[in-house]
Order: sequence, then C-alpha cells, then structure tokens
Amino acid sequence: VLLVDAERLRADFDELGSIGALAGGGVSRPTFGAAHMAAREWFLARARAAGLDTRVDAAGNHSALLVAADPGARTLLLGSHLDTVPVAGRYDGALGVVAALEVLRAVKDAGLELPFALEAIDFTDEDGTLVGLLGSWALTGALTPQILSAPRGGRAELVAGLERAGLSEGGLLGARRDPDGLAGYLELHIEQGPVLERDGIDIGVVTAIVGSRSFRIAFTGAADHAGTTPMDARRDALLGAARFVAAVNEIVVRDFPDCVATVGDVSVEPGAFNVVPGRATVALEFRSGGGRLDALEETLLASAAREAGALRLTADVIRVGRWEPARLDDEVRAAVWAAVAELGLSAIDMPSGAGHDAQALAAVTPSGMVFVPSVGGVSHDPSERTTWQDCVNGANVLLGAALRLAGAA
Ligand SMILES: [Zn+2]
Repeated sequence: VLLVDAERLRADFDELGSIGALAGGGVSRPTFGAAHMAAREWFLARARAAGLDTRVDAAGNHSALLVAADPGARTLLLGSHLDTVPVAGRYDGALGVVAALEVLRAVKDAGLELPFALEAIDFTDEDGTLVGLLGSWALTGALTPQILSAPRGGRAELVAGLERAGLSEGGLLGARRDPDGLAGYLELHIEQGPVLERDGIDIGVVTAIVGSRSFRIAFTGAADHAGTTPMDARRDALLGAARFVAAVNEIVVRDFPDCVATVGDVSVEPGAFNVVPGRATVALEFRSGGGRLDALEETLLASAAREAGALRLTADVIRVGRWEPARLDDEVRAAVWAAVAELGLSAIDMPSGAGHDAQALAAVTPSGMVFVPSVGGVSHDPSERTTWQDCVNGANVLLGAALRLAGAA
C-alpha cells in the first residue's frame, strides 16, 4: 500500500506554520494580507521544487498539478485553503493543502500512471475574512455580482484586497471551470469539534455539510422614561428580544435536536440606564444538515412574532444569508471508507457543522471530505491542535481514497 512521506509532510507543515506565526502560537493569515500571499507563494515554490506544474486562476486559486499521460484526462481536485481567521490555529485549511501536495508527490515518486490529472488546490478566502468560499464559488460558477456587492468583510476591504492580489471582479466572475473536466473533489480537514477525539475514532467520513440561514430581527416598542413609565404601560423591545433568545434555545433543544441555533448579537437603542429600550435588534443564525431548515425557520420566525405580540411590539425580519446544505457523494465516501479499512483505522460517518469549500464543489462534481480529530474540539484559536499521527493518518486516507477514485488501488 502506497503511503505519504510523513517526514516531508511534517517539514512542509511546520514551515507553512511559520508564515504569519503569532508570538503566542498559532497563525494569522487573513485573505490577501502579506502572510496569506507569502503562504501561497511558498506553496507554489514547494510544488515547483517537486517538479510539479503550477497555475493560478482568475479567482486567485493556487494549484499544483500532476498531469496525466492523456492530455484529455479529467482532473481530480484535492484541496483546502491557506487563508485563516485573524487569530487562528495552524491546522485549519493548512493541513488539507500540504496533504494534497504530498499526495501528488507520493504518486509522482511512485511513478504511477493515473487516468486522471491530480490537482492540489488552495482556494481563495475560504474562511471569510472577505467573502467566504470565494475561490470555490468562483470555480463552480456560484459567485454572483450580488455576493461581491455586499461582502461580509466589507466592500472597501474586498476591493483593496483584490487590487493587492492583482485580481479583478470581472476575473472572479469569469473563473468558472467546466465541470466536465473534473473527476471529483476530496478535502482533508480537521474536525473542529469534539466528536472524534471523545469517541476515540481516527477518521470522520463526512456525509453532508450543514446548511445555514441568518436573519436580523428588529423588535420595536417605545422608548420611554425609566422612572415615570409604569411597568404595565411599557413596550420594552429588549424584553421581547430576551424572551425570543430564550425561546430559540428551548425550541431547538426540544423539537429540533439535529439542528443548532444561535443568537450571536444584540444591539439596543437608545441604550441608556434611564430609558426603556425602544428597539432591540438580534442576529439569529441556525444550521441543519438535513431537510429541517424550512420547518425551523417557520417555527423560529413565528416565535419572534409571538413574543413581540405579547408585549405589543413589532418584529421586522431581514434575511441576511442562506447556505444550502450539501450532501457529499456516496462513491467518494465509499472510496474513503475503503482507504480507512486498508490502513486498519477506525472511522464513523458524520456531518460537518462548519462550512467548507467541499459544499461549493459538491454542486458540480462528486465530492467528499475526510476529518481528523481536533484535540479538545478547539478551532479558530491558536491552541487548535491535531496529533501528528492523526495528521499522517488523514493524509494517507486522502492518498488511498484518491487512488481508489482513479481505479489505481
Ligand atoms: Zn477550514
């Protein structure tokens, strides 16, 4: 059985972790910042040093290529991302990119002739300091001018970042690749949750990536004098918002055990000790891997209206975001399971509660993901860690699954 070179993988992983390193551990590589761009240059240099071809597309996605003997062969994409949230760990995204590169080198060194080209790809701005899934949406044709017009990281920041990277919005919108040229997509990633470590399992075979919806809900009552307005004459907007926050938790725990919902922000106006709140606006987000998003949306928005009505408030709802859930491909999952079995590892099927580039790719090509345990379930923090043995296991599963998909194992 063909294995990755664990020492070479480790040297790459450590070197990459020094780019954008933080004094207290971890890294910071926000999209199109100096550290992010340096990491991407480093990736291309490592690919060239291994004798691989490289390319950068109009969305700034950086790739290493191992071409097939047949120039018409389709391409199996293996990838993840080198950008990070502003204060991040060394594993999120980075592990998947260095493992993908190592898979190409292992296949090349073994002299295997595959019916597919292999491409290790570093997608632009997965973690969303600017847009989120920017490179993968561009590649799959899901990116729209509307998305670019209101990016979550700010429009001015996006424009400045694209200019620093030498990219254009027109280029991004035209970066779609013909899916007929793709054979599939596989991504190795850390779990970013506690399940695998808690249950002592080596590998998570991802079944689906959850969908999410987000809303701003403004509860409006009347701003009144806090001393002269009797309790029974108040229309306290924050009280309505608070009852709604409690109801969200209760409803999801009781009736939607396979879903999660979060109120992550509240703003109160006018916001003073001596004024009854006239308006309270909450940020609501909920996620589900199955088909329950519609039912949950209906239930939670009805609850907001009910809590508002009980206090003579109004509740105005603005839709903010919507990510569809993505089912990952059965054949790709079977290839991952076969690789796990051959390596003598343990695995479970599991959904991903976090978003990943694979959810964009799943819309156009058979896609799969391999999870490895996160120590303590911690992620998006400098203390994020995966044991080195688990990293190597994940890279070997990625290699084994890729060979199976290519019919070469
Ligand atoms: Zn990630």
